[in-house]
Amino acid sequence: MGICFSTAGVCIKSADEAVNEFLDKQSIFYDESRRAKERLEKRRGDGGGSNNVSHLNAVLQSGLSPIHPSLPVSATKHRCRNVYDGDTLTLEDDTRVRLIGIDTPELKERQPFALEAKEYTKKYCNGKDVWLTLVEIEGRDNEKNKDHYGRLLAFVWVPLGDEHNGGGGTTKNPQRKSASNPCQWLCINEGLVASGLAHAYSPSKSKKVHNHDKLLGLQRLARVNKRGQWATFKDYDVIVTPNGSAFHKCKKKKSIMNDCKHLSRSMNLSLSTASDAYDKGMHPCRNCVG
Ligand SMILES: [Zn+2]
Repeated sequence: MGICFSTAGVCIKSADEAVNEFLDKQSIFYDESRRAKERLEKRRGDGGGSNNVSHLNAVLQSGLSPIHPSLPVSATKHRCRNVYDGDTLTLEDDTRVRLIGIDTPELKERQPFALEAKEYTKKYCNGKDVWLTLVEIEGRDNEKNKDHYGRLLAFVWVPLGDEHNGGGGTTKNPQRKSASNPCQWLCINEGLVASGLAHAYSPSKSKKVHNHDKLLGLQRLARVNKRGQWATFKDYDVIVTPNGSAFHKCKKKKSIMNDCKHLSRSMNLSLSTASDAYDKGMHPCRNCVG
């Protein structure tokens, strides 16, 4: 896991977590999750701590912190019943929620860090109260807040601090707490990107979320500090188009020659680097980069 945004620095095991652990053992992903946990423990024991702290400081000092002093007024409270993967969860009323503005690695495709991303979201949300702010970005008139799979598009917020501690605790009314004993709010969408467990993502240039630039800044910090899926990232040449939101694979180094079907009619191809393309909010072409 990239950053533990716990203010207490420890994660208290709660009854909720014990129940979830039991349920999790019924899951087909149990073995994979167990391996992910082992990898995470190993990394913590590797002395990755100092690097982690410097990254956390860089994030907190950048003005891009995923931790907010208050909850947006439009946020609504829900109970999260299940976390499917890093960017998808289910509420108690069966509503499926897709975390907007980001993209986590795919579990089904067994992409690296898919399990770590799931673990991150699960740690903060599974079986707990979560607060949602909705985004109107896709869908048609009566379904403005949903994607084409019918999932609710949202930013997900959880309280941090004191007994919540970002890990296992639950709270009856963290909003009331804020007056005398302020608690802070972690935006999970932003936290995942800050930890290198998600890319900032917009399906097209016209469908950007309001904090897209912030997400790009967090992504850049995670890349520079080699967090999560950026740990093994090595820059490479890519092909871009003037208005495309994806970048494509070069058939030869420093050449705009390519095999991608999406570029067969494209004009004005140019060379870039993957890091520059990511910084501009572009994503890898699913056809040729994967
Ligand atoms: Zn392509």
